[in-house]
This record gives sequence, C-alpha cells and structure tokens, in this order.
Amino acid sequence: MITLSDPVTYLKGLGPKTATALQKHGITTVEDLLYFFPRGWIDASRVTAIRDMRMGVPATLRVKVMHVREGISQRTKLPYLRALLQDDSGSVTAMWFHPRFIKPKVGVGTELLLHGALQGWRAQDATIMSPKILQATSIIPVYSSMQGVAPHRIVSLLRQAKECVEHFPDFIPERVRAEHGLLSLPEAIKTMHWPDNVNSIAEARKRLAFDELMMLVVPSLTSRREREQEKVDALVIDPTMVNAWCKRLPFQLTDDQHQAIQDALEDVASSTPMNRLLQGDVGSGKTVVGLAAALAVIHAGKRVVWLAPTELLARQHVATATQLLRDSGVTCALVTRTYHEICSDGVCSVAARDVCCAQQLVIGTHALLADKITLNDLGLLIIDEQHRFGVKQRAQLRLIGGKPTHLLSMTATPIPRTMALLLYGDLQLSTIKQKPLGRKPVITRVVEAAKREQAYDFLDQVMKVGAQVYVVCPLITPSEEKEVVDIPNELFHFVEDKKSVTTWAQELRERFPHRRIGVLHGQLKAVEKTSVMDQFRQGELDMLVSTTVIEVGVDVPNATCMVIEGAESFGLAQLHQLRGRVGRGDRQSFCLLFPTTEKGNAMKRLKVLESTTDGFVLAEKDLELRGPGEITGLMQSGLPPLRFANLQDGERIQLVRTITEQCLDDPVFRAGYDRFWRLHHPE
Ligand code: ADP
Ligand code: MG
Repeated sequence: MITLSDPVTYLKGLGPKTATALQKHGITTVEDLLYFFPRGWIDASRVTAIRDMRMGVPATLRVKVMHVREGISQRTKLPYLRALLQDDSGSVTAMWFHPRFIKPKVGVGTELLLHGALQGWRAQDATIMSPKILQATSIIPVYSSMQGVAPHRIVSLLRQAKECVEHFPDFIPERVRAEHGLLSLPEAIKTMHWPDNVNSIAEARKRLAFDELMMLVVPSLTSRREREQEKVDALVIDPTMVNAWCKRLPFQLTDDQHQAIQDALEDVASSTPMNRLLQGDVGSGKTVVGLAAALAVIHAGKRVVWLAPTELLARQHVATATQLLRDSGVTCALVTRTYHEICSDGVCSVAARDVCCAQQLVIGTHALLADKITLNDLGLLIIDEQHRFGVKQRAQLRLIGGKPTHLLSMTATPIPRTMALLLYGDLQLSTIKQKPLGRKPVITRVVEAAKREQAYDFLDQVMKVGAQVYVVCPLITPSEEKEVVDIPNELFHFVEDKKSVTTWAQELRERFPHRRIGVLHGQLKAVEKTSVMDQFRQGELDMLVSTTVIEVGVDVPNATCMVIEGAESFGLAQLHQLRGRVGRGDRQSFCLLFPTTEKGNAMKRLKVLESTTDGFVLAEKDLELRGPGEITGLMQSGLPPLRFANLQDGERIQLVRTITEQCLDDPVFRAGYDRFWRLHHPE
C-alpha cells in the first residue's frame, strides 16, 4: 500500500534516472506527483461525424479504415502513411509521418477511434494530420513533458498513485465545502487526472483556485491577528498643532493628503500598533503626510525613524524635512553606510553614528539595520518605497526599535484593489489619488523607429529653452529588482548596466554635440554619482543618461522630458513611475517611449500609457496584460506562482477571506493548511 508521503521511487518501474528528472521538477513524493496536474485535456468524450468536422477544430471520430498507402513525401523526404477513413456520414483522409508504430494499428478493415483536426489549404485536400489513436471515448489529460520523463510515464506512475488520492487530508471543513459548493480535495485531484466530464474539471479547478487564494490570505490574516495582540505606549497626540503646521506649508494640501494625515494621527493615538500603507502616485505628495505623522509622534515625546531604499532618497528627505520642520524645533539626522550627519538649519555636520541615532527624526537607509545601533524610544517607523524592500527586510525593519512600533509604509506602486486585499489584508490603506494643484499631466508618446530623428529634434528644442532631459536605458538583465538591501552599495545597485548606459550616452553625445550630457551607472564611485546628480540638479547638465535608478526619488522640477529606451521591457507600472520623474514643475512635461519592437502586443501595451496618467488604472491593466507575476515581482511579495486563481476576481477573493477568517481557529484547518503550505513552499 502506497502512502502520500512515500518517495516516488516506491512506484513500480521508476529508475534512479527518472527519479532525478522528477526531482528537478520538485516531485519527490507521491503527493508531489499527484499535484503535477495536466496542462490541458483533450475532450474525446463525444464522437463527431466526419461530415460535421470543421477545419482546424479537433474532433473525435469513430471510423473504419478503407484503404492505406505508404510513401515518401517529395517535398520533405519523410516517410508517411495515408489512410482513407469512413463512417456513416462520409469519408476523410488521415496522414501520419514516420508511421512505423502506427502502421500495425491501421490495417484495412479495422475500426478506429481517432482524435485530430482537419488541416489543409482547400476543402478538397483537407487531411487529418497525425491524429491520436484512442482506446475509448474519454477526456484525456495532457501532461507537459519534462526533460527525461515522457508524458506516458507520468500517466502510468499516476495510475499507481491513484489509490492514495483518497487520503489527501482536506483542510477545508466539510460544512464550508457544502455551503460554497466546493469539491473535496481528493475529488478535485482525482478529477484533474481522471475527469468524468468536462464540467467536473471546472469544478476541480475552482476548488484548487480556492486553495491557492487561501494560501495567500492566511499569512496576512495571521499577521493581522498577531498585531492586534501587540501593544504600544499610548501617545498623547495633538492634532491642532499638526494642523497648524499644515497651514504653514508653502502649498495647500490636497483633500487626500489631509485624509491620509488624519488616518495616521488616529492610528498613532491608539495603543494598537499602526500598520498603514500609504499609496499614491509618484509626485502625489506622500512625504508631507509622513512628516505630519512624524511631527505628531515627536511632539508626543517619541522618536521617529524614516527608512529610504537609497542614499539619494534619504538625502533628499533630510533636505525636505529640515526645510519643512525648521520652525518646529525638530532635530534631524542622516544615517547611511557612508555618512552620518546631523542637520539643522540646512547645515549638515558629521557626527558619530550614535549621536545621529539619538536625534528626534533619524532618516537613513538600511544601514540603520546594522548591529550595534540603538534606537530607543522609537514611536514611529516610516518605510518609504516599501516595495523596494524584500519581505524579509520588512519583517526585520518592523523590529528595529526592539519592540512593536507604529508603522507607516509608503509606496508609489499602486496595487490593484484585489491584490491589496490578498497581500496586504493586514494593513490599513490610505490612498492619495489627487494630484497637487496646478500639475499638468505628462504628455506621453510612443515613438516608432521611423520617427526617431523627429523626436531628437524635439528633445533639442526642449534643451534649447533650458529644460532638462532624462534618458533611461534598457536593462540588459532585469535583475535589478532583486533584494536591494543585500547589496553593499545601496546607492546604485545596477552594476550590470555600465555598458548599456555608456553606449547610449556616446551615441547621444554624437547626436547632440552642443549639449551637456551626464552619465550614471553602477560602476561609478559614490562621490562621482553624487556629483553627477548634483550637477543635474543644479542645471549644469542638459541630459542625464542612466538606468532606472532615477525611478526612485529624484526630484528635479526643471526636468521636463523623460525618454525611455527599450520601453517594452518595462511593466506599465514601472514606466509610469519613471514618467513621474517629470511633470513636477509648472511647465508642460513629456515622456517619449522608444520600443525596440513594433509588434502589436508591445505597442498596444505602451499605448495604454498614452491614454491615461492614472497609476491605479495602469496597475489594473498590468495585472490584466502581464499577470500577477510582473506586479508581484515589483512588490517583492514572495507570491507563489498561481495556476488556478484569478487575481482579478475581487468577489471571490473577498469570499475566500471571509471563509478563511472563519476557519482560522479550526485545528484541523491549521494542520492541513500548514501541511499544504510546506508542500508548496519546500524551502
Ligand atoms: P511622492 O508622493 O512621490 O513621495 P513627494 O512627497 O516627493 O511625492 O512630493 C513631490 C513634490 O510635490 C514635492 O516637491 C512636494 O513638495 C510637492 N508637493 C507635495 N504636496 C503638494 C501640494 N499639496 N501642492 C503642491 N505641491 C506639493
Ligand atoms: Mg516619495
């Protein structure tokens, strides 16, 4: 008797070679094998009459072989076998190449059950090419071939494993299944491999999709529960003081900014730790929201740590904070791997790291995570561009003060509502949708290769009037989304792109010899990078050629044009982020997208950017066009690949959340779920 946890090698006819091949695909136990699902099914359950066959549509036929001829194709020189087949409704020809194995089965007079599609240029010479010969009418699962294991081997191994399907523990309680019309797990798995009819496959998939969604929902629900148990010191928050500060700002806050500040102040006044995500497009003004929360907490006697993913961004925040908090008497410090400075009245002076960390507002990079840094009395932790930090880092960051703390995360990568529900179900959400007053939407154009010269003339005009241009180069390898935090030089972690960037810059210098063009890439020294950025900020460069490093945090209002080369290799959300680097002043800004291919799909995707500047709309589109992988890749969510669940189905996701919440305390559910989780997250 075979059990689910047995190694596949217990199955008959499985040698070490095949076992190794299976293992490469993550299949070591019988249970794993049963989770190796078909990639599709052939519906050979209904027999079609020859007369009713249509060009290109696969059908199952019950026929008699009338005539057989063998030959060698003149054109391809391949041996073939051609058979004339007949049923009550008519006749048709079928053809197989390399017919050695087929031939004995296709004798004149034999009855055959065949599955295939008619092909051919004209109706009179339409032929069924290489039809499958079936044993019986059925639904036939089709398995992906693995290197070293033929699909028919999989089928025979599965047949042996079939007996233990019944033993799959079902972690969804019976009563829940009954209520929502879900198959049991054994039923679902059995149906995937040995379906009775087409409809049952849909039912099985529905159940497996449910499991996938549950797997996503459980961690966020669990962490929300844990957090609800935690306590922080209740702070005495003074909203009047914060509102007065808001009034003194050099601009008027948008309603959304006001609301977000309000949300955050309510949260930090509670003794349950805040866990709020602030979403808003690039340039929507998230920083002031963070500063308002920081001010409230500092005023209540606690300290605030503000984490940024890059040194560049940390510096910029320090500049903003010292400027906007100047009359509030807040002491502020910058702590990165290379610098520790105290900043007051716009003057920065180097000081020991300990001294810096003792300031009221400490802004820094993950260098703050290094050991031997003490951050006492921490009242609030702000994580800027949180999607840039990996899942593990985020968990680590939360404990930076040694105990539970209020947490405000910010992101400019809007997440479709459904994904937010799934992944960030443990977070409260604040969203800034409005743009600050007076911003003109960036005009975006996809530029075809034939129009490049014209676009260059346009760029020259832009620079002529004193505005500046960013040129973002295509990625050679898209590895830059990897764990940012693990790379020692946090400022520019795109090491691989030197070649690409310098080559582009060279071309542009030849095209625009009279313009000042700067270059940024990962192999420059830190001081060189800072100096190039400073030059650009001060208007000493007309054009900056770089990698996507400028996606994060650069704020140069005089830059009004963004050029993106190889645009199709980026996700819509990322292109939108890049585009957000311009359009920050009151002049009209532009974004020019140069694709390397003008194939329909790439163009269609890029055209979406021409039509909208709403980051949320784009995020939904990205999900629709590129799938969750792209979005989650950006979010570093550690989302497992989904095979069945549809992430756009908000209603279902909501349902799964509700059900999961009801099940969470059920020990059977927990045990089954934990087991399921281990199966799908083998590390
Ligand atoms: P992001 O949301 O991308 O972090 P920032 O907070 O950096 O955006 O804001 C972008 C720019 O807009 C900054 O220069 C900031 O001072 C400015 N800003 C923020 N809020 C407003 C507003 N309500 N009106 C005008 N300008 C604003
Ligand atoms: Mg920001």
